[in-house]
Amino acid sequence: MTILKKNCVQNELLASHTSWKIGGKADIFFSPNSRDELSEFLKSNDCSITWLGNGTNILVRDGGVRGAVISTKKSFNSIQLLDRSNCKVEAGVSCFELAMHATKNNFGPAAFFSGIPGSIGGALTMNAGCFGHETWEFVKSVEVIDRNGDIHHLDPKEFSISYRSVSFPFPLWFLSCEMIFPYKGLTTMEELKSLRDSRIEHQPLTENTCGSVFKNPDGNHAGDLIERSGLKGFRIGGCAVSEKHANFIVNDKEATAKDIETLINHIQNTVKDRFGINLDTEVRIIGEHDE
Ligand SMILES: Cc1cc2nc3c(=O)[nH]c(=O)nc-3n(C[C@H](O)[C@H](O)[C@H](O)COP(=O)(O)OP(=O)(O)OC[C@H]3O[C@@H](n4cnc5c(N)ncnc54)[C@H](O)[C@@H]3O)c2cc1C
Repeated sequence: MTILKKNCVQNELLASHTSWKIGGKADIFFSPNSRDELSEFLKSNDCSITWLGNGTNILVRDGGVRGAVISTKKSFNSIQLLDRSNCKVEAGVSCFELAMHATKNNFGPAAFFSGIPGSIGGALTMNAGCFGHETWEFVKSVEVIDRNGDIHHLDPKEFSISYRSVSFPFPLWFLSCEMIFPYKGLTTMEELKSLRDSRIEHQPLTENTCGSVFKNPDGNHAGDLIERSGLKGFRIGGCAVSEKHANFIVNDKEATAKDIETLINHIQNTVKDRFGINLDTEVRIIGEHDE
C-alpha cells in the first residue's frame, strides 16, 4: 500500500471494505476530507470512478477495481437537525446512526433504518428499505456532485424511484440529503429492539453476507423460491446459501468473488428451471475478474 498524497492510497484491498469480506485491490482509494478536496480530485483526475459506501450491498470481483474508489465514510458523517422533523444527513452517516438520531430527537418513523447496515449514500442509491418503508419516502432534496466536481441541489422529482432501484438524471454521487419525517410515528428504543430481535431470529447477522442477494420478483419472495428449489445450505467453494435465510449467501470459508458469482448463477438457473421465474440481483457486482 503506497501513500500517494493525503487521504489517497494505492492498491488498497477492498475485501476489508465490504461486508462479504471479499474483493481485490483498488488502483487508488481516496477518502476526501471535504467537498473542496473531493471536487478538486474529480476535476484533476480523468480515471474511472467507483463510489463505495459501507460495502454492504456490493460484490467486488477478485481482480479488483481499476481507477479510483472514493469513500466518504470517514468524513461526510454529520447529521444536522433543521427543525423538529427535518434534518440534513451526509452520505457517510450510517443508517443506524440516523435511526438513533431520530430516537433522540423524537421524530419518525425511522426505526426501520436501524437494521440496514449501509450508509445514507448507499441507501439513496439503492432506495434501501424494510418493514414497510423505503428511504426516498422521506427525502426532500439531495446534494450531489458530478464527474466534473460541480455540486448540484436536486428535487426527488428528478429521479425515477422504484423498489431497490433509482435512476439518476445524469451521472452523479450523493453528498447529503434533506429528510423530512412526519413526526407522527416516533422512533423509540423499544421499536429498534423489536426490529433487531426479529432480524436476529430470521437472518444470519453474525456471518459475512451482503443481505438479500436477489430482489423479490413481483408477487414472490426470492428466499422462498430458493428454499423451495432445495438450495438451502447448497455450497460452492467457500460460500453457501444460508440455512437461516435462503436469500442470503454466507462467506464462511474464505470464498472468492468467483465462488459467489458461480453460486448466484446456479441459484438463478435452478429457480428459472423450477418456477420459470428470473431472479434479478439486488447486490451490485463490480470490478475485474482475476486473470
Ligand atoms: C446483514 C444485512 C442486512 C441488510 N438488510 C437490508 C434491508 O433490510 N434493506 C435493504 O434495502 N438493504 C439491506 N441490506 C443491503 C445494504 O445494507 C443496503 O443496500 C445499503 O443501502 C447499502 O449501503 P452501503 O453504504 O453499504 O452501499 P455500498 O454497498 O457501499 O454500495 C451500494 C451501491 O451504492 C453506490 N453508492 C454508495 N454510496 C454512494 C453515494 N454516496 N453516491 C452514489 N452512489 C453511492 C455504490 O457505488 C454501489 O453501487 C442489508 C445488508 C446486510 C449485510
